[in-house]
Formats: sequence, C-alpha cells, structure tokens
Amino acid sequence: RGASLADFAEKIGVDPASLVQVLFHLGEMVTANQSINDETLQLLGAELNYDIQVVSPEDEERELLERFDLEFGENEGDEDDLMPRPAVVTVMGHVDHGKTRLLDALRHSNVQAKEAGGITQTIGAYQVETEVDDEDRTITFIDTPGHEAFTAMRARGAKSTDIAVLVVAADDGAMPQTIEALNHATAADVPVVVAVNKVDKPTADPAKVRGQLTEYGLVPEEYGGDTMFVDVSATKGEGLDELLEAIVLTADAALELQANPEMDAQGVAIEAHLDKGRGPVATVLVQRGTLHVGDSIVAGPAHGRVRALINDVGESVEAAEPSMPVQVLGLTSVPGAGDAFMVVPDDRTARQIADQREARKRAAAQAAGARRKTLDQLFEQLEKGETEELLLILKGDGAGSVEALEEALMKIEVSEEVSLRVIDRGVGAITETNVSLAAASGAVILGFNVRAQGKATEMADRENVDIRYYSVIYRAIEEIEAALKGMLKPIY
Ligand code: GDP
Repeated sequence: RGASLADFAEKIGVDPASLVQVLFHLGEMVTANQSINDETLQLLGAELNYDIQVVSPEDEERELLERFDLEFGENEGDEDDLMPRPAVVTVMGHVDHGKTRLLDALRHSNVQAKEAGGITQTIGAYQVETEVDDEDRTITFIDTPGHEAFTAMRARGAKSTDIAVLVVAADDGAMPQTIEALNHATAADVPVVVAVNKVDKPTADPAKVRGQLTEYGLVPEEYGGDTMFVDVSATKGEGLDELLEAIVLTADAALELQANPEMDAQGVAIEAHLDKGRGPVATVLVQRGTLHVGDSIVAGPAHGRVRALINDVGESVEAAEPSMPVQVLGLTSVPGAGDAFMVVPDDRTARQIADQREARKRAAAQAAGARRKTLDQLFEQLEKGETEELLLILKGDGAGSVEALEEALMKIEVSEEVSLRVIDRGVGAITETNVSLAAASGAVILGFNVRAQGKATEMADRENVDIRYYSVIYRAIEEIEAALKGMLKPIY
C-alpha cells in the first residue's frame, strides 16, 4: 500500500525496469520510484499472475500496533476488573429544534453540583450527575450537536456514543434531518431517547411528534413500544431531570456499560485545536482504562506525554476514568476529531507509531495522485472520458471548522466524471509538510482562517501547488463547485 514500483519489484524479486515495461504495455506510465495505487497494483498482479491482496487500512493499523504488542479496543483486560461506566450520549436532530439550548440547559442545571466557579468554556463534552432510584448516576454528553461529528467519528471506526438523544421540536414535528439522524443512530445500533422540545410553545403538539416517529419505528413506551419520549423545554428548563432519568433507564435496559479502569487508557479524540499559549490541546473521551498525567500517548498521527489533564469544569486533574472527557495537554501536534488515542509503554513507542501513521498517510495520498500532476493532465484525462478526482488538503483553525468544511465539501453534487476527495486534514498553519504532500499527490490546499507558515509559500510557488484561503465556508464551497464545473468544461 503506497509502496513504490521499486519496492514492489523487490518484494517479488524482479527487476523494476521490467515492471515499468509491463505497465507501459498496459498503458500505464509509471517510473520505478513512483508510488503505485491499488488499481495499478491489481493490474500488475493480474498480468504477472500474482494474487495481490490489498490490505485494508484497518488491517494495516492492527498490524502496526501488533508490532509493538499493542491492541486497540478489543481487549478489556481482566474480566474481574470490569466496572460500570457512565453512558456516553450524543444529541441529534433537525436544525433549530433546540440541540444547542438543550445541551446548555443540561449543563447549567448541573453546575451547582460541582465545585468549580461557574463554567467558562466547553471542552467539547461534559458530565452531568443525576439520581435515579436513589442512586447517583453520571451521564457523559458529547457537546457537539448535530450528527456530523457522530458520523465523522463512526466513519473513522470510532464507536463513541452509547445513546442518542433525538431532539424534535413539538411545534415543528419530525423533519428531514430528524429522520436522517434517526437513520444514523439505527445504522450504528445506538438506542434512541426522544426529547420532545419546545413544549412551552402554544403551538406545541407533543402527541403529533409521537405519532410521526411511531411511523419510523420509534414507538413510545406509553403506546406499548420501547422508546422513551420525554417532553422538555430547553429554554424553561423543564423536563430535564426526566430526560436524564430516561437516558439512564434506557442505558440500563439496553446496554451493559462496563469498562476496565485498571488498564492503560484508550479512547477517542472528540475535539482538538492549537492553542496559542498551551500548544496542541485535545479533548479525549476515555473509553477504557485510566488516563494519567505523565502517560505516553499516541492519538492518530499525534503523540506526546500527558503534561496536564483538565476536566469539563476547567479543573486540573491527575487522572481520567472510563467515559470521562478530559482535555489533554502535551501532544506535539493536533490529532483529528475521531482519531483513536491510546496509552503506550513509552515516548519512543508513541513517536514510532505516530511516525508510521504519518508516513502511511503520505504514501496513500501519493499513490492516489501518482498518475496526475497538473490540471492540464487532468483536463486531458477528462477529455478522454476518464474519471478524475480533485484531491484536497484542508487546514483550519480548529478541528470543528475543518470538520464542518469537509462535511460541506462532501455535500457538493458532483457528476460522474469528477469526484472530490480530501486526502489530509489538520489544524494549524499550512506547513511545508502539507505543501510537499500536495506536490506529491497533485492536491489543492484549502486554508480556512489559517495562513501558510515560514517557507511554505515559497515552496508552494516552486512546486506549483495551489493554496487557497477562505474565512467563510460557503466561499470555499462556491469556488470548489466552480472548479469542478470548470473541470468538466475546460476553456482553452
Ligand atoms: P439547534 O439548531 O438544534 O442547536 O437549535 P438551537 O438550540 O440553536 O435553538 C433554536 C432556536 O429555538 C433558538 O432560538 C432557541 O432559543 C429556540 N429554542 C430552543 N429550545 C426551546 C424551547 O424549549 N422553547 C422555546 N420556546 N424555544 C426554544
């Protein structure tokens, strides 16, 4: 994967030049040092009668960790160490139905329960205490409303959510995004609790919402089904305790939420950005094990030693247990939202794993763009009726904005002839590393509220790399849309 033709030749013990020749006869111009994509590899395999197995990124990742005697996710360690853990909840629903207000209300209704002097800023997730059947229970909320984050994390194989709260405004009823969110939850096999919001409004019709969702298979308990519906008003703070109780009861009924706090911590990064004073800051959700200050960790292509841990009310803590969200300081770069993180034995291991991932990412991107370097060549290929891809590298001022930009780009309607692919994304200024990746893969770099750093601009000029800057998402979308259309109708 991402290997050069020469690497491949060495593996199968032939002269690279002969492979170049074979490919040439098959209509592919590839030099020995160029990396080859999966397709070309398959082609070559068929021609030479080799059974080529293209390794999936998941397998590759597993193999990488195995080399260090590590494993992500599957092994919970000693069964006797398993302990109950709080449910992790994502709030989803149609725009304007009150997701943000509800998340705020739940958080603030609970502030007094904690010692800290009010809440200053969110870290992307928080925990709420509640009492159910005389027992103290904790619930973790992911504070990024909308299913975009949920989908992005799931796309990266990170199962971060135990329960989805589907917010439906009682004056508006089920809307397209309500159903879309519901479909996402169902596809991920995540139980749903329905928060029927805005019941304070005179036009509210909570019964209608129940009826509508019943048609989509969410049958309210009071109608004999097994989905809990709770009437709430996020603005008036009504029904919040009932909602928390419904979440706990649903978790208890449908899931056995346990984790081993004794092992090395693992989990997922839910938000990350570059802070001027503190450097890379990532909020991680601990899914198993306990994360400690001083641990060596690797998160996607980022690594480092935990310098400090900050909880959801801004306090510095020594450790974070399963289902606890915590800000991690001490990483050397910014991981992506949805990247898995894990504690490893030492800094060296962390760096080696991170380096391997970075190298793999580069190789994959290079292979993707190996056959095309310039826009002219792209036009030529389009003229010949071949399909082409516009490759993009996204850089922005926060993981959230990068994610939002990517989501919006993915929604652009493209024709069959052209497609759009983001090969790398990250937080912070555009660096020489980004430019060299763009040069190698023929990608265009989009900077969202960030600029090129140091020699990156110079290098981009030299390497003919197109860098475009934006401060509003729709401008970026407009331009890329125009570019794609331009690709279809090149003007000579
Ligand atoms: P989101 O797009 O789902 O995050 O929705 P918001 O939380 O931004 O809410 C959209 C609008 O609905 C805002 O103007 C809120 O003040 C209003 N809103 C949210 N919850 C309630 C509620 O319980 N009652 C009333 N009357 N208005 C609400």
